[in-house]
Amino acid sequence: MLRKIIQLITGRQMTCRRYVDLMTEYMEGDLSDADQELWEAHFEGCPGCKTFFTGFKNSIELVNHLETQGCPTEVKKRVQSILAARAERGGHSQSKG
Ligand SMILES: [Zn+2]
Repeated sequence: MLRKIIQLITGRQMTCRRYVDLMTEYMEGDLSDADQELWEAHFEGCPGCKTFFTGFKNSIELVNHLETQGCPTEVKKRVQSILAARAERGGHSQSKG
């Protein structure tokens, strides 16, 4: 779906593609001050890019949110008990493959 939106934007205007490419750098603060100003100016004046960026930002926030939630305690407990059971079986491993 993202690819389709990018195609929509890039099909319209070549400059938009450039700004979309710079989106991750912008979000990580890797752009120079001048580039950042140009970038912001473009996105303010370009509804297509603005919509795309909003969606992009939301999806990143969603991923961050999921990551901070971490692994469910249930899963952690199960993994720990499996590892403990294995350790109990002794240091003698015969695993093949
Ligand atoms: Zn644009």
